[in-house]
Amino acid sequence: MIPDWRSERQRMVDRQLRKRGIRDERVLEAMLAIPREEFVPTEMRVCSYADEPVHIGCGQTISQPYMIALMAELLELTGKETVLEIGGGSGYHAAVLGALAARVISIELIPALARQAEQNLHRAGRAANVTVICGDGSQGWPECAPYDGISVAAAAPEVPAPLMAQLNDPGRLVIPVGAYYDQELRVISKAGGEISERVATLCRFVPLRGNRGWRS
Ligand code: SAH
Repeated sequence: MIPDWRSERQRMVDRQLRKRGIRDERVLEAMLAIPREEFVPTEMRVCSYADEPVHIGCGQTISQPYMIALMAELLELTGKETVLEIGGGSGYHAAVLGALAARVISIELIPALARQAEQNLHRAGRAANVTVICGDGSQGWPECAPYDGISVAAAAPEVPAPLMAQLNDPGRLVIPVGAYYDQELRVISKAGGEISERVATLCRFVPLRGNRGWRS
């Protein structure tokens, strides 16, 4: 029997997002519109709307729906922004950001995942304003900078300096920073030449690799 994805999605939005405090209606709408099952490997599809991360192959995971909604909400997008996503994975998070901003550049280090993300985005009808690039996002992507928002979906040992340099003023960077297994989700804002920073929550992400990531 094919699950009723639309009602699973509605239940996820109500129970996992609204109930836990996600307030941005645009974020809730985007999460209700985007078919998460199209971004999850066939054998994991029944878990598409589970309240947990889902394996997407190559040892990587697609974040829990709540974490994606929270990160998107923290960027405070209005629809006009250019956003850089680091750690494209399945392409789901990029699709959510694509529904909230004008343009999204998503960088994925693993070629097989980058290809898959692109296919998933096309199949879900979400590829029009999302560009997937295969490369090391720990150094950002200077070609399309500055970015009004930068969203990092892998844990960094510290905030990579190139990301701060590529962040617009005003602009917001959301990034998990800390130890290999436990991090804090930081929101770094640039406004009027000033930088401010706060911790939104504690979290656990897969490690950011590459030049400015974890080396092991
Ligand atoms: N946002 C994704 C899930 C991200 S999982 C989704 O919606 O599915 C984290 C991803 O970061 C993994 O796919 C991993 O390969 C990627 N990654 C790790 N280090 C990276 C780097 N330096 N540059 C780009 N991607 C990286």
